[in-house]
Amino acid sequence: MSVLDQVVEIGASALLPHLDRWRPTTRGKNPWSLEGLRNVLRLEAYFARVVNILGGRVTSCYRSREINALVGGVPDSYHVKGAALDVIGWNAKFPTVDAAAQAVFEQARAGTLGPVREVIPEQRTKAVHVDWWVDGRTSAPRLVRDERY
Ligand SMILES: [Zn+2]
Repeated sequence: MSVLDQVVEIGASALLPHLDRWRPTTRGKNPWSLEGLRNVLRLEAYFARVVNILGGRVTSCYRSREINALVGGVPDSYHVKGAALDVIGWNAKFPTVDAAAQAVFEQARAGTLGPVREVIPEQRTKAVHVDWWVDGRTSAPRLVRDERY
């Protein structure tokens, strides 16, 4: 962990504790990176909207590189960038993970969720995964089936 990353972690923990809801982990510490913190600050209102659409709870959002490796995420995962969200517990509002993902996708297409890149109904975990463009690139959101992130 670089000195800059240590400063980011200490500063964000002290000044922005509400952001902790966007770094849940069951695997010990999940320290912020500068990139992750920057993107979560930019996207947190959209994260909250997705949670509101689905109901349920966030199982994964920002992941440090170490946590991402521990949970078996792909190395270039948008979770490491602080630009992805996984939500489970949509069951009270939707019959299937596909229906839950479709509802988020429709809102993304309508433009209410910011620069969404992909919406993925994860069949294995039953989570709806949503990720967002970073670094200014955008194109229309995609609904992606049968992929793991
Ligand atoms: Zn995910």
